[in-house]
Amino acid sequence: MLFHTPGPAVAAQTEITDEQLEAASGGRTVVIGSPGERRVNRMPLEVYVARVLAGEGEPNAADAARQALAVAIRTYTLVQMGRHRREGFDLCDTVHCQVFRASNESSRRAALATAGRVLTIDGAPAEVFYSASCGGRSEGAAQVWPGATFPYMQVVRDDDVHAEDVPWQLDLTLGELRQALARTGFGGGSLRDISIDGYNASGRVERLRVPGLRPNEISGPAFRDALGTTRIRSTAFSLSRNGNVVRFTGRGYGHGVGMCVIGAGRRARRGESVEAILGQYYPNLRLTDLAGTSPLPRETAATRVVATGKSGVAVSVPRDSRVSARDLEQLTISARDSLAQALGVAAPPVTVELHETLDKFRLEVRRPWWISSAVTGTTIDLAPAALLTQREGIERTVRTALAELLMSTTLGDRPAWVRVGGARYFSSSPRPAPPPRAISCPADAELTLALSAVAQREAEARAVQCFARAMATAGDWRQVR
Ligand SMILES: [Zn+2]
Ligand SMILES: [Zn+2]
Repeated sequence: MLFHTPGPAVAAQTEITDEQLEAASGGRTVVIGSPGERRVNRMPLEVYVARVLAGEGEPNAADAARQALAVAIRTYTLVQMGRHRREGFDLCDTVHCQVFRASNESSRRAALATAGRVLTIDGAPAEVFYSASCGGRSEGAAQVWPGATFPYMQVVRDDDVHAEDVPWQLDLTLGELRQALARTGFGGGSLRDISIDGYNASGRVERLRVPGLRPNEISGPAFRDALGTTRIRSTAFSLSRNGNVVRFTGRGYGHGVGMCVIGAGRRARRGESVEAILGQYYPNLRLTDLAGTSPLPRETAATRVVATGKSGVAVSVPRDSRVSARDLEQLTISARDSLAQALGVAAPPVTVELHETLDKFRLEVRRPWWISSAVTGTTIDLAPAALLTQREGIERTVRTALAELLMSTTLGDRPAWVRVGGARYFSSSPRPAPPPRAISCPADAELTLALSAVAQREAEARAVQCFARAMATAGDWRQVR
């Protein structure tokens, strides 16, 4: 642990400039972009840390809290670097990555005082998070991102600094709740009731029952997203119903994983050091100088890329992959060309990335562990080969993803069952026969917010049957809606 000997720049009362922060960045830069905009902004790492700190920190926090948050921001930045590389930048300037504003003297001072310091595990920067207020107990990462395996982001008790928190409260009618859930893709006519169906280890809502809707359950985090994260401020809530009105009463603000910014501020005010604060929220991580760490996971991604040839297919696989890049390329070309012919569309260029671990796949696509592939524009991300083999096999997974990609321009605005069912219909051989009688097509949320692999498979099976039935009548996939 460092920080025992702050550098002279910290003690000095002179203004800290961006030039000093640039000099402290050791040549590291971050390219920031805005989704959907062309202009990007390259800035030295520590200049960026100071700006994010001004955007995400508490305005009047004590130095130790500000410095602890600077370390968390820097670590987060280095691990998430390149998250937007396909759009031409490293990180975006929205809540998706990190919001920033003009830096101020105290944020520049905290960045400089901790310059180059990061939290590491096994010698490499760790994937850390932070959030506004945990409300008394921080959240384990796996609760928010199913399948996430962080040995260090555990549920941490923080009650002593939250004792005087005033709970937040929100009243909504069943009608308002139904409207919000319908916008997220829930089917069904009316919401008859709502109840909490279990809390997790940190006291947050794991799932809710929503009888009358399809599906009739939703996870706590998805519910918070659906209602708006500024209204349902956290998933640490209880609810009570009085006639048509549902009252939510809760603690904290944010997902609650990792450092609690409010709690860190209170700890610093009562005299806790930077090390103590970091140790509280990130137990088992080491505070290390960046110069002594191993290269970051993404830099050692060990991918081998087969250059885009005339085929228009680019493939990248881990170095020791059980599937060679050449085999995956061949498989992709032949599947793409035969599907394009069957669908009557032109064969577009395609990029396929086979991920090394489930964590890397999840970091890229942010979907639950049971998802095998994700299509974004003309790029296909694949879960690790060993997993695909246990599931449907690599070839079937690639075919399904390609079918989705080839149909996406035409089916983009259709219900999810048309897109999912269509992709699985065309990747099957022989093509599925229509079911003998009408079945209920899955609501969008049954496919996008399924709470288990079983529920997901069941909804996908119905999507295929619905599609096969519609195809039998329409004859042309473009007409299915
Ligand atoms: Zn982003
Ligand atoms: Zn807290």
